[in-house]
Amino acid sequence: MSILQTDIQYVPGVGPKRAEILQKEIDVFTLGDLLRWYPYRYIDRTRIYYVHEIDSAQAYIQLKGKITAFETLGEGHKRRLVAHFTDGTGFVDLVWFQGIRFVESKYKLNQEYIVFGKPTLFNGKWNIAHPDIDPFMNESDRPEGLMAMYNTTEKMKNHFLNSRAMQKIITAAFSLIKERLPESLSPDVVQEAGLMPFHDALENIHFPKTPSLLRDAEYRLKFEELFYIQLSIVRYASERKEKLKGFVFGKVGESLHTFFREHLPFELTNAQKRVIKEIRRDTATGRQMNRLLQGDVGSGKTLVALMCMLIARDNGFQSALMSPTEILASQHYETFTRMLRGMKVRVALLTGSTRKKERELIHAALLSGEIDILIGTHALIEDVVQFRNLGFVVIDEQHRFGVVQRARLWEKNRQPPHVLVMTATPIPRTLAMTVYGDLDVSVIDELPPGRKQVQTLHRYDKKRGALYQFIREQIVQGRQVYIVYPLIEESETLDLKNLEEGYLHIREAFPEFSVCKMHGRMKAAEKEEVMRRFVNNEAQIMVSTTVIEVGVNVPNATVMVIESAQRFGLSQLHQLRGRVGRGADQSYCILITPYELSADTRKRIEIMTGTNDGFEIAEADLKLRGPGDLEGTQQSGVPFNLHIADLVRDNAILYRAREIAEKIIDRDPHLAQPEHLVLKQQLSRLAGNRYDWGRIS
Ligand code: ADP
Ligand code: MG
Repeated sequence: MSILQTDIQYVPGVGPKRAEILQKEIDVFTLGDLLRWYPYRYIDRTRIYYVHEIDSAQAYIQLKGKITAFETLGEGHKRRLVAHFTDGTGFVDLVWFQGIRFVESKYKLNQEYIVFGKPTLFNGKWNIAHPDIDPFMNESDRPEGLMAMYNTTEKMKNHFLNSRAMQKIITAAFSLIKERLPESLSPDVVQEAGLMPFHDALENIHFPKTPSLLRDAEYRLKFEELFYIQLSIVRYASERKEKLKGFVFGKVGESLHTFFREHLPFELTNAQKRVIKEIRRDTATGRQMNRLLQGDVGSGKTLVALMCMLIARDNGFQSALMSPTEILASQHYETFTRMLRGMKVRVALLTGSTRKKERELIHAALLSGEIDILIGTHALIEDVVQFRNLGFVVIDEQHRFGVVQRARLWEKNRQPPHVLVMTATPIPRTLAMTVYGDLDVSVIDELPPGRKQVQTLHRYDKKRGALYQFIREQIVQGRQVYIVYPLIEESETLDLKNLEEGYLHIREAFPEFSVCKMHGRMKAAEKEEVMRRFVNNEAQIMVSTTVIEVGVNVPNATVMVIESAQRFGLSQLHQLRGRVGRGADQSYCILITPYELSADTRKRIEIMTGTNDGFEIAEADLKLRGPGDLEGTQQSGVPFNLHIADLVRDNAILYRAREIAEKIIDRDPHLAQPEHLVLKQQLSRLAGNRYDWGRIS
């Protein structure tokens, strides 16, 4: 057994009582767990401040001086011990609420102490609550370098497990370690990445001798964390590629040529060309493609999908396009038939509302191979839907489809078809590499020329007059308007009430126009009907919850008003904004908030009014929120347990870790070489605490 597996209670200074708290509060069960409870920051203890230098900007500081008097103040739970402390340049009150008797007997008047803590201003006086106090020794005996600070919970603090106590326990843990800890990465990785040895890294992360040793230790531990995530992804992907054969789309044939020469009304953007090339390369290799296609709304993803389906057809395969709603499926169907008019490519639409007769015809035509492209909703993954030779599947707006549904698609042919997942919700590259690490990613990062950028404005909710005037002008010019109300998750009834009130209010404010409303509790058929009315401009204003977020295309709608915009996350705001700006006219997105806003909300609004770039927004979102609640994170199933690395700050380390993980798997796909045994062991250890989502949210 490794020393790292020592039960935490046997570390000197811990014992059964504290062990229980450490287990419950911070999941520390073993000595190894304890050493991976990394400090959250460091304090430079080489510098001693003067009292007269203290200002509100300082966090933790050290002072050198004497206690001139003790005083007990207050009654009951407000009872506290105050020590008047001075260094000759001013006075500070040191304050204790607990352990009063102990403190009073321990520290002596008029003796030199080093006091360490965080000064706060209270009744016009500086005070430091529960400071660390050490007798002043010779300069040469003072602790050198950086001192680690540890996060502790309220409950831990109540049991005197504060940062200082954690530091003592960790010191004690090191005293148990008699031999150097074995390396947790293989020698080739350590060498290739130029890493500090594991043992030294642990020592220096807790007791850094110099800032530069600390940097090396941090790099090493972050690298290791990210490396194992990447290694498990790369290994999984490589195994899958080994096992899964894919259909070969070897040639570019007649339908793609014809389409390209005679049907394509515009030039492809460079980004579209690049993505088509990537897909062609993938589908020609004999491996099964699993690719995520990201691109803002309107960047031309659907067109790319269509062209790939023509490639499939030229190679004797059928294709399917799956959409989250019937409306979207019908829109795709219309687009496809329009663009392919005059060609021999046969397209069919299959949704929940397809009549039985027609449905049967479609089923038969799919089996006989008469249909080349099937467009539909979930209806098309049902078992009765069988193809003659399905080779290519496109999933639009991935987050509506789970892994299980994808798997059912795979069973529709003797080997799985190629899969292209399209999403307009950009995922920052670092997160995509981690969460969707086994998918290949293509990006369309360029809009077709001549698009008008949506103008985004911020307005306060007390000033509606001008806004309504503006809406009126737009509608008079023939445009349409969305007004979105937030979902407040605590109560659906409240949400509906909100929406209902909004709806009545808007109807009153715009009696001359027709207003419709939509929310998630409505039946699918009702929603479709409302949507149809809006698409046909029978209603000019749509009042809605966020159900309209996904994919609807109404080019004539030019105004998106978002009520209580402070309640929405960045990616949601961006997604909603994507509902306008789809036609030739200038479009607007108007964010409505109260006057009082938190700093974070202001930041979000600023980002929204400042950029239309989905990737920039996704990066900002990741920075503001952390990766925990980003869409898709929960589904991934990638072991993922970050103690020290940060997907935003440490992206350079992440790329390096990925690169080296790929090299290792290239050289030794099954990690069979003896020197890679340690990698294999660590991977299975990691898989043991899989799905530890709590840590990242
Ligand atoms: P997405 O699926 O990414 O939202 P679409 O493929 O639906 O985007 O394209 C949006 C609109 O832009 C469509 O009307 C499409 O015909 C048009 N479009 C696509 N590619 C181009 C291009 N290269 N040049 C001009 N218009 C394009
Ligand atoms: Mg689309």
